[in-house]
Order: sequence, then C-alpha cells, then structure tokens
Amino acid sequence: MAARVIDGKAVAAALRAEVAARAAALPYAPGLAVVLVGEDPASQVYVRNKERAAKAAGFASETIRLPASASQAELLALIARLNRDPAVDGILVQLPLPAGIDPQAVIRAIDPAKDVDGFHPDNVAALALGTPFLVPCTPRGVMRLLDAAGIAPRGARALVLGRSNIVGRPMAALLLAADATVTIAHSRTRDLAAECRRAEILIAAVGRAEMVKGDWVSPGATVIDVGINRTAAGGLVGDVAYAEAAAVAGAITPVPGGVGPMTIACLLENTLIAAAARR
Ligand code: NAP
Repeated sequence: MAARVIDGKAVAAALRAEVAARAAALPYAPGLAVVLVGEDPASQVYVRNKERAAKAAGFASETIRLPASASQAELLALIARLNRDPAVDGILVQLPLPAGIDPQAVIRAIDPAKDVDGFHPDNVAALALGTPFLVPCTPRGVMRLLDAAGIAPRGARALVLGRSNIVGRPMAALLLAADATVTIAHSRTRDLAAECRRAEILIAAVGRAEMVKGDWVSPGATVIDVGINRTAAGGLVGDVAYAEAAAVAGAITPVPGGVGPMTIACLLENTLIAAAARR
C-alpha cells in the first residue's frame, strides 16, 4: 500500500494561522529582526520569505542589510543594538556569512532570549539538558509534522541520518526528549542501510540527492525527508528516493512541500515564544 503523504504545506499554513491569531491577541506586535550580510542570492530569497511571513503574521519585522564588505565588528555592533532594543523579540542572522566573519562569534553575540534560530550555546545546552526553550526551526518543524500526522515518537526506534548543528543533532535531542529510542547516523556509520531499516521513524538530513533507497525503509515506517537538493534539470529532490520509499513507508513527507514550509512557520512560533518570555 502506498504511504500516507504528510502535507507540510497544510500543516505549516495551519501553524502560521495559529501564530497570527495568538499574535493578534497580544497588546504588542512581536518584533523580528532579520540580518542579511552580503548579496548571496539564495539568502536573499530566504530573507525575503521570512520577512513576508512575519508581516503576514502581524509581526513588526525589519530586515537589516549590510554590504558583503561589512566587518565582524560592524555586525557585532548591530547585534548589540538589536539586543538592547525592547521592540525586538527575535534576532536572526542569515547564514552563511561572508568569509572573514566567524559565524560562531556572531551566534554567541545574540542575546539567548532573542535567539530565534536556537543556535546560541545556551539554547543548545538547554535542549541537550532536556529543557528546551528556543530550538532550531527545522527540527522543531519535523516534530510538529509528526504530531500533526498522529505519529508518536514515544518508545519508537528513531534514526536521524545526519549530525549537523542545524538539523541532525537538535533533531536527535528533540526525539529523545519525546521519549524515542534514538540512533544518530553519519558519514562514518557502518552499514547505513541496515541502520535505516531498523527505524520506525527515519529522518534524513544529509544533503545527498535520493540517497535513501526504498529497500532502506522498513515496511510501514515514517519517513521524514529534510533534504533539499537541486537537480541538474533545476528541480528539487530530497535525500530520499521518494517513489521507492513511498511504496514501502507508512507515511512520508514530499520534497518540496514537506519539511521546507515548516521552517519559517516555526521561526514565527519561536519569535512568539521569545516575545512571551520577555514581555
Ligand atoms: P550538513 O551540515 O552538510 O550535514 C550533513 C550531515 O549528513 C553530516 O552530519 C554528514 O556526516 C552526513 N552525511 C553526509 N554525507 C553522508 C553520507 N554519504 N552518508 C552518511 N551521512 C552523510 O547539512 P545540514 O545543514 O544538516 O542539511 C542537510 C540537508 O537538509 C540539506 O539538503 C539541506 O539543504 C537540508 N535542509 C533543509 C532545511 C529545510 O528547511 N527543510 C533546513 C536546513 C537544511 P558527517 O558529520 O560525518 O560529515
């Protein structure tokens, strides 16, 4: 039987509507400041989408653009100003940053209470300790998708393929906090296919087009594909060979239209959480 398709667009739209309704009930507009350094075309698209989504949710959103020639000191001074600004609840510095700027120094400079990307070491530690506050948006979005699809991580064997700070590690920590039995696989894992086949919940976040084959998927498993890979023809594919996997899985996210739309929705949710904690 073909897998149930988890519709990330619909879940994200519902979450964005919920966030907008909660924001409308507040006596102030939550403030999101997005900082873009340089002219990376992909980053410009991401930043524009974030600003548009924030405005649509009724947030007070500003995008601050610095030239690619901006120094680390200038960027840190901007962050210090945003940290002090009482109208700013969330600060997001779009990555990657131009060469010559240390992203870790920038992330550490953001007030952890305004760190809506969830990358500051204080927020990473809180998640690792099982007391999450602001958690990275993409893995948060995956948890939201599982919840919306009625898939409970508790007691389930979950495998996270990928161990980046942005997706894999926080994903594993969130699943553990939700009582899954979690395995983290990566480029040094022996017999990846066998590890994947053991999983009842399989999360792929490797950035390798269609690497996870149908026979890596256990019959009935839930497959969440975080990957976004551009094909030679200009299309988008995930890290999972979709058609093969969908023939075996119980539920699966498509690319595009799966995890992707959840990331911005969760950024808005994080901004709301940050605002509620500060004001
Ligand atoms: P990343 O930083 O490049 O990390 C990739 C991870 O996959 C690493 O841990 C790496 O292992 C592992 N890996 C790479 N090749 C492998 C292989 N052949 N076998 C086993 N493991 C392998 O990537 P990322 O930032 O986590 O992103 C992963 C994917 O998610 C990308 O396609 C990205 O575009 C996508 N993404 C989507 C969203 C969204 O909104 N939907 C958000 C963020 C990222 P090692 O640690 O051993 O090197």
